[in-house]
This record gives sequence, C-alpha cells and structure tokens, in this order.
Amino acid sequence: MIYAAGLVLPVSSPPIRDGALLVENGGIVAVGRLSEVKRDNPGVEVRYFPRHTITPGAVNVHAHLGFRRGDAPPGGSFSGWVMELVSRLPEKETWTPKAARGSAREALESGTTFLTDSSPFGECLPQLAESGLAGIVFAEFFPFLFDTPEEAVDSIEKKVFALREGLPPRIGVEMSVHAPYTVDPESSRLAATRVRTRGERLSTHLSESPEEVEFVREGTGRGLENVFGVRADWGGMGVSPVRYAESVELLWPGMIAAHLATGVSEEDIEVLAQTGVAAAHCPRSNEYLGCGVSPVPEMLGRGIRVGMGTDGLWSSPSMNLFEETLFATRLHGMSGEMGLKLATLSGARALGIEGETGSLAAGKYADFAVIEAAPGEFGMDPEMEVLEAAAGAGVAATAVGGELVYDRVEGGSAG
Ligand SMILES: [Zn+2]
Repeated sequence: MIYAAGLVLPVSSPPIRDGALLVENGGIVAVGRLSEVKRDNPGVEVRYFPRHTITPGAVNVHAHLGFRRGDAPPGGSFSGWVMELVSRLPEKETWTPKAARGSAREALESGTTFLTDSSPFGECLPQLAESGLAGIVFAEFFPFLFDTPEEAVDSIEKKVFALREGLPPRIGVEMSVHAPYTVDPESSRLAATRVRTRGERLSTHLSESPEEVEFVREGTGRGLENVFGVRADWGGMGVSPVRYAESVELLWPGMIAAHLATGVSEEDIEVLAQTGVAAAHCPRSNEYLGCGVSPVPEMLGRGIRVGMGTDGLWSSPSMNLFEETLFATRLHGMSGEMGLKLATLSGARALGIEGETGSLAAGKYADFAVIEAAPGEFGMDPEMEVLEAAAGAGVAATAVGGELVYDRVEGGSAG
C-alpha cells in the first residue's frame, strides 16, 4: 500500500511535496515523492490525500487514561486536587473502564499512535490493549497498603509479570514509582534497582508541585504528607525532589520523569543531564494545578530527552497531544518545526523507541496521522500550520502499524 499526501513531514528528514510512504506488513519500506514511489512500485494500491499533510503519529509519554471528562476536581492547588481525587477513588470501579476507553479513543482520533498510561496496578491495560494504539502501561503501586517495602515491590512485580502474559503486539507493561510523597525511599530504591537490573523502564512524577517540593525539603505539604490518611514520615530531607530521586537511584536513562514543573534549579538540570533521565512535559496540567512552568528550553539545551504528555482528563482539557504541544510552543516561544518534533520523534527518544516509531523513515512502523492542512509553498512555518490544524480537531485519519485505525476521510471531508 502507498499512502500519499499533498505534503509529507517525515520529521527525521526534509518535507516532501506530494510525498508518499510505501507500507508493507505494517512497516515503512520507502519514503519519497509520490511519482517516484509509484514508478518504483507499479501496481501497488495508492491512497492519496491531496489536501492533507501526513506526519508521524504523536507519541504521548505521560498520560492517565482512567479519568473521565466533565467532572475534574477543582484546580488551582495541587494538594487540594490530589486530596479530592483520592476521596473519589472508592467508587472509581464504576466508571474507570469507560473513562479509559473514551480517553484512548480521543487520543487515537487526534493523531496519537503511541501512548503511555500510568494507572494504579496497571488497571487501564485492557482499554489500552483494545484501543488500536501502541503503548505502555506503567503500573503504579502504593506501599502504604503493605507491611514492608519488599512486600510492596514483590507484589507489584508479580502483578506486572502477570499482566505481560498474552499481550497483543506493541503493548507493554512496566512499573511506576508514583511520586516522592506516595512511595517511600526504600520502596523507590528497591523498585528502581530491580527494574534497572532487568534493563526495563520506570516512570515517576517528579518535582511537579510546590507542595511536593515543600514535602521533600521540609516534611510538610499542605496535606500531601497525609494524602492516603497515613502519614508519610520520610519527608523533610532538605534537598530538591530531583536530588532526592537521585539519592534513591531513580535517575538513569530508563526513567521517564513526568512534569519537572516546580523548583527545578540549574543544579537539578545538571543532575538530570548527567544521569540521562528523560522528561515528560505536561504544560496544561501544570497550569491547571497551580504548578510552575517546566524549564524545557534549558533542559533541551543540556541535551535532556523531552517528550510531551497530556496527563489525564482530570487535569487537562483533552487527550490531544498535538494540542498539548501547540500550548507548549506558545509557552516557550518555539517554532512549529520544534513542536512537531517534540510531539513525535522526541517522545519516541524519551521512551527509547525511536528505532520503531516517531518519524517517517524506512524500517519503522507506519505510525502516522493524516491532517487537514495543506500549507502553501511560501508558508512561513508549515509545521506550525499543521500543528494548529491537528490541535483543532483537524486529524482526519490515524494509522498504527500501517492500519488506519481511525479514518473519517471516506466520509467526504477529503478534497
Ligand atoms: Zn501524571
């Protein structure tokens, strides 16, 4: 099959007018001008979107599928939001699966092809696995439910190994150390050590809010130190969350640290760079929850791998990663080219999967979005035009592994 469009933005190579992808067995075999790809592959069926742009699919490096739209806890204060969230957990079984299905569908219909979910004990795995997306579920665990760090980590490990049985292709399960105020230092260190030994990935929330910074430094956190009704007595270490995470060996290239929005100093950025950790940038969630602005330009300047994340619908208005990224480009004054790369290839690099997805190149999966945008030859910033269209419900089709899992073009919106 040949997929072609008025413009193809491969991200890892220059834009192609009337560009095309040759796709076989779910993978990209060739990328080039439509005329040439057609000439070299006579008789292969062509699907041509003349007034559209094909980009790599978005890679969402930090999301929570299990929150529904419409009744987000009030924002403004991170600790207030978390405490309201925790108070609603007892009845979450009644709506989490439906919320997860809806969130995953929304991501797919807005051009996301790879999504990482973080959910308690990996509870959103069934919905991710059936969604058509590729992705990873990071299973969170909460040691206050167990007697010792060993018991807590043994239990989540056993759960992760069990969840990995019989998974569809391109769906993975990894472990998450939820946050410095919910997982004690010994459980964090033990989980990190075991995951690192196996060469796997780990995710965490880090340096997200003023309350978390206060908890790690002073031991207080406006309720955060007592979020499950059990006192977290390990705070007050007199260091930044990043320094704390380093001290319990959470920082290495397999770690994806979400947010890094509050209290990230130049010294912290140096630690993040030295340890090779990846960052997930969720600017709309940070704004809603009264957290700071992540120093993304500085982190990128130090060579830190940064990807974009939507977080979940209780702290973010949508699961549209292109919309999240457009917000980031405005926040940090970035070009469209930079934004499109952040949404795609940079996210894949953050997760260590740039060999399989994130750009349109031979040898990778055919993960792409077809966007209703046809920037003119003399556009100032064609990538920004495409990003704006994708952010504004302009994704017309999404392909994961060469399969159009979302396709509304046939319905008449194609030119
Ligand atoms: Zn999160």
